Amino acid sequence: MKDKLLIHACCAPCLVAVFDDVNENLEKYNLESKSDFDVIWYNINIHPKTEYEKRKETLKEYLAMNNKEGIFLDEYNLLSWAKHAVNHKEEGYNMRCEYCYTSRLEKVFEYAKDNGYTSVTTTLLISPYQKHDVIISVCEKLAAKYGVKFAYEDFRPLFWPGQHKAKDLGLYRQKYCGCIFSIDEGGKSK
Ligand code: SF4
Repeated sequence: MKDKLLIHACCAPCLVAVFDDVNENLEKYNLESKSDFDVIWYNINIHPKTEYEKRKETLKEYLAMNNKEGIFLDEYNLLSWAKHAVNHKEEGYNMRCEYCYTSRLEKVFEYAKDNGYTSVTTTLLISPYQKHDVIISVCEKLAAKYGVKFAYEDFRPLFWPGQHKAKDLGLYRQKYCGCIFSIDEGGKSK
């Protein structure tokens, strides 16, 4: 049986190469047609709100270029998110980014389960600046919890080609990972 794939997009520049890879390799992702995947936005980690809106609108812009409608779960609560991020150890996470990935991807897997998607992946897997192994571990746990496949792919070799294409398309490209803490951390995840 073929899959219906939900791609979590952290931002448009990271989606560009992932979007192309899925479109051009349907068999690899066990998809019947190009209409069998959707893109979802859920990134409650981004600070400040203006940056959140900018990244969200850039994703809309990119999807419109590709005649694709996105799913936008619009939620923003800096104080609540930052409180959990600061207390991540007490909440059972080894590091802040593990909490961050879980806070976004849990909603994505839950949405997939509730809306007939059979597999999930995330553009977080394209960035050499993210904690790739931690993302895999979080996704594997969520896949087991929600009974939805984790469509793992090491997208990292596509990172720079995707960034260059995003630049050529004139898409806004941010300079830091996303959360309030990362603004002073040189753009790397922690
Ligand atoms: S550095 Fe990036 S991945 Fe880590 S908590 Fe902040 S936004 Fe999330």
